[in-house]
Amino acid sequence: MYPWQKNVRKVDPYVPGEQPKTLDVTKLNTNENPYPPAPGVAEALKTMDADLFRRYPDPDASILVDALAKTYHVKKEQVFVGVGSDDVIAMSFMTFFNSDQPVLFPDVTYAFYKVWAEMLQIPYETPALDENFRIRAEDYKKPNGGIIFPNPNAPTSIYEPLSFVEDIVKANPDSVVIVDEAYIDFGGTSALSLIDKYDNLLVVQTYSKSRSMAGMRIGFCIGNEALIAALNAVKNSYNSYTMSEAALTLGAAALADEAYFKETTGKIVRTREEAKKRLTELDFTFLPPMANFIFASHKTVAAKELFEALRAEGIFVRYFDKPRINNYLRITIGTPEQMEKLYTFLKKYV
Ligand code: PMP
Repeated sequence: MYPWQKNVRKVDPYVPGEQPKTLDVTKLNTNENPYPPAPGVAEALKTMDADLFRRYPDPDASILVDALAKTYHVKKEQVFVGVGSDDVIAMSFMTFFNSDQPVLFPDVTYAFYKVWAEMLQIPYETPALDENFRIRAEDYKKPNGGIIFPNPNAPTSIYEPLSFVEDIVKANPDSVVIVDEAYIDFGGTSALSLIDKYDNLLVVQTYSKSRSMAGMRIGFCIGNEALIAALNAVKNSYNSYTMSEAALTLGAAALADEAYFKETTGKIVRTREEAKKRLTELDFTFLPPMANFIFASHKTVAAKELFEALRAEGIFVRYFDKPRINNYLRITIGTPEQMEKLYTFLKKYV
């Protein structure tokens, strides 16, 4: 132990999913999109002038903010962008969660919320999901310092309707309610339609799943203008140039092709519906999936064993060694061909 180590912030670090260097694995472990980004992204990349990189990027991220405002039919003053939704959420924690009251998020949810709360020394409580792994709205109707939950939730994949989100937002006018919609484009209805009605609702989305651009690190949130102004004040004080010039340009280019977006998200939804059938035939049960993954448990073979057997076969899925969910596998929806490999192996194994 070095003497200075007593002053190091203690964190129980977040463990990301494995990113193997080789491309010859069937990678169903980090909810990436199996299809390439919209063709306009590759086009924009070809015409990008490397000389631009001499300069700092636009601190207002105008190209991207304007393109998002146009796509989602909101004002540019209602849009904030960051380096992945992780960055947007971390910035939101810093900006909005400054109360002595606990921030609330589910006990089974995206693991980063707890990491950030601890890192930023924000008090938090984690109400338990009910016996069907659903968020209980009633647990979010008590004094609190802010609320965050994903919809659909991760890693359960369970989606709650707009009325559920509105009920929680309405019950908490004194707190900012953040709905993390990382997986909303695979069949859910976004809470974006509520942002003009509620000044305390912040909707966060990402390019990492439905727009096939996890590696470019682009996330954004949309909400009331005062929420966005507060976020910008913190961002500009912390790191005024958060996003790279390349991400701004390519992120804007990705939005131009709505037809491609609909086609690829549609394919993933269809592959997921087929996966429900195929996994049922193989004796799996799963929670009702509304994301680009399925959270599945086998009736007789333990999840950990299956995870290891699949891995040895070059098929990567995600396993969480955590209470309540340690007999489930989170299987990202890949291409139909990738999924066939999974079923073929499982047919022999289970
Ligand atoms: N929210 C949820 C619920 C997620 O599962 C993820 C992906 N790990 C993120 C946010 C962060 O995604 P990104 O930073 O790539 O936008």
